[in-house]
Amino acid sequence: MADARPIYLDHAATTPCDPRVVEAMLPYFTTHFGNPGSRNHQFGWEAEAAVDAARERVAGMLGADEKEIIFTSGSTESNNLAIKGAAYMYEKHPAGSGRPRGHIISCVIEHKAVLDPCKRLEKEGFDVTFLEPGNDGLVTAEMVKAAMRDDTILVTIMWANNEIGTINEIPAIGALCHERGVLLHTDATQWAGKMPVNVERDNVDLLSLSGHKIYGPKGVGALYVRRRKPRVRLQALADGGGQERGFRPGTLNVTGIVGLGKACEIAMAQMDRDAERLLALRRRLERGVTSQLDSCVVNGHPDKRLPHITNISFGFVEGESLMMAVKEIACSSGSACTSASLEPSYVLKSIGVGDELAHSSLRLSLGRGTTEAEIDYTIDSVVRAVRKLRELSPLYDMHKEGIDLSKVEWGHH
Ligand SMILES: *Cc1c(COP(=O)(O)O)cnc(C)c1O
Repeated sequence: MADARPIYLDHAATTPCDPRVVEAMLPYFTTHFGNPGSRNHQFGWEAEAAVDAARERVAGMLGADEKEIIFTSGSTESNNLAIKGAAYMYEKHPAGSGRPRGHIISCVIEHKAVLDPCKRLEKEGFDVTFLEPGNDGLVTAEMVKAAMRDDTILVTIMWANNEIGTINEIPAIGALCHERGVLLHTDATQWAGKMPVNVERDNVDLLSLSGHKIYGPKGVGALYVRRRKPRVRLQALADGGGQERGFRPGTLNVTGIVGLGKACEIAMAQMDRDAERLLALRRRLERGVTSQLDSCVVNGHPDKRLPHITNISFGFVEGESLMMAVKEIACSSGSACTSASLEPSYVLKSIGVGDELAHSSLRLSLGRGTTEAEIDYTIDSVVRAVRKLRELSPLYDMHKEGIDLSKVEWGHH
């Protein structure tokens, strides 16, 4: 491992573009540069055909119809369009009526790209219930059921969590929603393209996915919008040329869309193989670390987790020192997802991880290119770093001597 660049274990943040994706995109920058909206000449037709083919591939990966796919700039936009678009379209009472405009159910450990649209709707007069998962990080159909009201219009629950990898029972939540005539949106950014989806079987009405999380390009994504049973309507968030059935006007990002289509085609072909391989590697990593170190825990449900994400908290080390000590591994810390501030991760906090421990956590996310040798190197590197930091820790000494630190009186009061 004399390589100067760190080992990349941050695939939940973004993935490299698959070379086959880049190759598929290239002609659409230069020779096939047409606008798919140009109906009168070959340049337009070529671009339109490429977009149609990509749409078929994305739909195919979801068990959906091509007409149900809206191309967007990524999951953030898809989430905004789904959540706000549905809220405005299905509101029960108009703004200013003195009654809630409608009720939405979400969860405290959603990505900001779901939380922030929900919070905006709250300001605009909608009621939002943010479910609080237990220590396992899971949102169950029971929890959603208990939160349902007569004026509930939308449930938005992520399929799998980007920080801890926990998997929610979306098919069961969807079945409940359909029973109650409530729409289900799911942020499937970490799930779709990695694990199987069938929007019919899984009872999903709206689903967000993103190109750059599945070995496609950045700045392109899709929103699945159900067209029958029920036919979902959305209020567009932008006005313009009427593209994407008016849901998302603007000249299509043809190169990005072609790349997303190719990424979905590749995902379909090797999803099972990838998932099996990554699960074995993730388990090797977790076992390798936890078998050599005491006082460390893998966060979230033990089994209901994605193959490619693990999040481990290390007791008796300081968060920033830990990040410094594992510089040769490119990963995220328990303070990373809340931008530049040193706030502990709200996801870890919400599932009961203390502030200190949240800071001294690592999210390691594996990808298609991750090798066994990289995992073994990572195990070694993390174990060595933690041991070294603990050698300097008086608290760890006390812990080893059997002193219960939770009962220690720290004096000076
Ligand atoms: C990355 C991510 C997003 C944001 O996706 P973009 O395409 O980068 O906007 C949203 N939700 C989850 C769960 C993510 O992991």
